Amino acid sequence: MNVLKTLSAAFIALFFCAALALAQPPGSNEMPSVVVVPAAAQPSDHFDAAAATDAYMAQISPERIERSNNYFERGYWLTLWDFLCGVVISLLLLGTRWSAKMRDLAERITRYKPVQTFIYWVQYLIISTVLGFPLGVYEGYFREHKYGMATQTFGPWFIDQLKGMAIGIVLGGILAMLLFGVVRRFPRSWPVLGAGVSYAFIILVVFIAPVFIVPIFNKVTPLNDPKIVDPILRLARQNGIPAKKVYTIDASRQTTQMSANVSGFGNTMRITLNDNLLRRGSPEEIQAVMGHEMGHYVMNHIYKSLTFFLIVVLAFWMYLWGTIGWALKHWGEKWQIRGITDTAIVPLVILLGSIFFFVMTPINNSYTRTQEYEADMYGLNTSRQPDGFAQAAIHLGEYRKMNPGPVEEWIFFDHPSGRNRIFAAMRWKAENLNLFTAQTAAAPGATQPAVQPAADTGKK
Ligand SMILES: [Zn+2]
Repeated sequence: MNVLKTLSAAFIALFFCAALALAQPPGSNEMPSVVVVPAAAQPSDHFDAAAATDAYMAQISPERIERSNNYFERGYWLTLWDFLCGVVISLLLLGTRWSAKMRDLAERITRYKPVQTFIYWVQYLIISTVLGFPLGVYEGYFREHKYGMATQTFGPWFIDQLKGMAIGIVLGGILAMLLFGVVRRFPRSWPVLGAGVSYAFIILVVFIAPVFIVPIFNKVTPLNDPKIVDPILRLARQNGIPAKKVYTIDASRQTTQMSANVSGFGNTMRITLNDNLLRRGSPEEIQAVMGHEMGHYVMNHIYKSLTFFLIVVLAFWMYLWGTIGWALKHWGEKWQIRGITDTAIVPLVILLGSIFFFVMTPINNSYTRTQEYEADMYGLNTSRQPDGFAQAAIHLGEYRKMNPGPVEEWIFFDHPSGRNRIFAAMRWKAENLNLFTAQTAAAPGATQPAVQPAADTGKK
């Protein structure tokens, strides 16, 4: 449950296209599914959190560390390449006056302004997607296969991209019509009204997504196994969460990564675990993850994130108001853009937006990471599964660098690093050792996880 992620995914989902047929078998991963509590993390009177953390870290092979470091660090560069690729595409559409030509075409087709906006948007989205496709296919398909994260062959993957583009055409088209309507009708107050309209629209999309958008890509089914459902619902009741059912989503259709979330409110309130977590996580691990997700819910992270996002959206529109006139004065004529009410301005807005959000990356990451840390602490307190939590951190470390430097973590990490998460769990264990020494053979953290089928990855 990460509002900012969902919001940015909603934007990013407006991407991709083209043809090519190449299939790779789903990559497998050498990561053992069962993580055993190492000797140094077993309860004892000389229990030491740092030594227990090191012992957990030592369970990960050097090859695996190198592999996930590679995957994650190359992701830093991808952030930069994505940004630069977006800048180049925008400048190309503006500089060659393709954008002006797309507007002219839309104007020849109809006189009705909102329909012109929609026709422009369809052309813009298709052309920018095709231009960005080489990077998109590398990032979303080949790279994921190379590291054993992806489970789809090219055909189904490509169909998912087409679905994403169709959603981008419909939702982006509606938003573009609304925003140009605002700018045309309110030549002076458009920055504030535009911020309000885009904010309301995005929030609406985020809230309807679980019901209308998620099922386009995946199947969500109720979970019936009492061995899994009962402890989760007990945990929910203990935390005042009004959930009556637990759901699972077939995320393994696309990925080997684990995840879970708590979404909705009132009667729509639901807990969802993805099938990778169910398949690979031990019962202790699942409870630790669910405790974390419940922390997000109980600490009202969704409402706090909505407030944070409102500030970001307002700042963005103020920035747009301050920069767009200046850019038009310098290059408007050259690009054949008539003014801020002209749809041909879209690539310029996207360009200014990508600069804004690129610069905002460390701030967004730090905001999210702070909440994730809070949820970690809440999850430890409520699930009392520090070893399950350490196991989850190791599973998640398959695609996230385990032990980054502090500055690196501050800039690039939207969750605490694996090592910091394990240390937090072991510190919690050290300070609550009585919970573990009281029960001998059946100590909660020392239970052997059930044996899992082989293969794959994690996320939460
Ligand atoms: Zn979280």
